[in-house]
Amino acid sequence: MGQLDKLWDYQQAELELAKLNKEMRSSPNYQKRGKLQKLLREQMDVITGFEKELETRSSQLASMQAQLEALLHDYDLEKSELDIMEADEEATPEELTESKKAIEKLLGKVSALSRELNATVEYCDKLSESINATFSKVVRAKRDYDAVRTVCDEEREGFAPRIKELEEKLEQIRKDIPNELFERYSTLKKNHIAPIALLSNGQCGGCHMALPAVVEKRVQSGTTIVRCENCGRILYYRQ
Ligand SMILES: [Zn+2]
Repeated sequence: MGQLDKLWDYQQAELELAKLNKEMRSSPNYQKRGKLQKLLREQMDVITGFEKELETRSSQLASMQAQLEALLHDYDLEKSELDIMEADEEATPEELTESKKAIEKLLGKVSALSRELNATVEYCDKLSESINATFSKVVRAKRDYDAVRTVCDEEREGFAPRIKELEEKLEQIRKDIPNELFERYSTLKKNHIAPIALLSNGQCGGCHMALPAVVEKRVQSGTTIVRCENCGRILYYRQ
């Protein structure tokens, strides 16, 4: 048996294995598993996004609280000064007005900051709710995913003997193929699902291009590796 006969057999077994894998992956359960896996990944990304946002907002909240404390401290100072002035007969009306104005300004700042703070707290609460809701979705999806994964595993077990048989066959045939030829095959495999093409009726079985008689003869002689001039596949002639 020639090298190309072996390579041809190898390709046939490889194609059969690919077909089997495709069949396994096209089962409704396998498809469902894939969809659930995608959903889980997406939802986890959503949660991560929410958590990052929550972290940012929480640190904003902390700095707002610090600002508020500082403002309240200033208010206390200003207020006690005003109290002293009001008790002091020497304090002028201008001084009192000035102090009252400063207090009002501080109170204005306090109320603006409080509004901002409340809005941020509300936003953080909503974010937490969204995180919880998304998390519930994830839990449900994970449960469905686990169930369908079990079914998929069972299905895979059904395919396993045939897959194992083909894998062993491939391993066996591979031993009879010279490394150099196998490397050429593997390189071609990157661009062609079936890198070795049957030559029949003067045509390349891969691209169906008609080949010159001289090429056909060279292929038939089997003394050298001939590639299709059009698609580059290794041409094979079955005796
Ligand atoms: Zn071709």
